[in-house]
Amino acid sequence: MERTLVLLKPDAVQRDLVGEIITRLERKGLKIAGLKMMRLSDELLNEHYSHLVGRSFFPEVKSFMQLTPVVALCLEGVEAVDTVRALCGITKAREAAPGTIRGEFAMSVQANLIHCSDSLETAKAEVPRFFKAEELFEYKDILETYVYNSS
Ligand code: GDP
Ligand code: MG
Repeated sequence: MERTLVLLKPDAVQRDLVGEIITRLERKGLKIAGLKMMRLSDELLNEHYSHLVGRSFFPEVKSFMQLTPVVALCLEGVEAVDTVRALCGITKAREAAPGTIRGEFAMSVQANLIHCSDSLETAKAEVPRFFKAEELFEYKDILETYVYNSS
């Protein structure tokens, strides 16, 4: 089982797409290990988007991510990192594949609704960046019995 970080960005919150997006992720067979709403500080965003610090559009990305609180999720599942990434679609939402979250609901590069960890290594850094240990839960559900049956 892997854990991955998802953020539902301010455009998802403002466009009332939070439920729609979580529904898609749940239905696929990803288990919610953590879920909360939070405001992102400058410090957290500098760390989270450290690969973008210095890019001309970084200040804009930062203020966009602070327009509203975001919804943070930690999702768990077999190969959860790549699975969630595939469900999200590529960064430039206009070109994201039909059927993906960005492909179905977004047109922008910046306002592309959702963040998800891009590798297992990244996920291992991002999950504890956004969730304290006591905010992550282990519990039984039926996914192992049915959804992951026979791989
Ligand atoms: P992601 O992993 O698909 O979210 O993409 P990146 O890690 O490359 O970039 C992080 C986020 O920064 C993206 O999801 C966009 O919201 C934003 N972003 C990336 N490239 C651009 C750009 O060229 N212009 C603007 N305005 N925002 C960008
Ligand atoms: Mg990224």
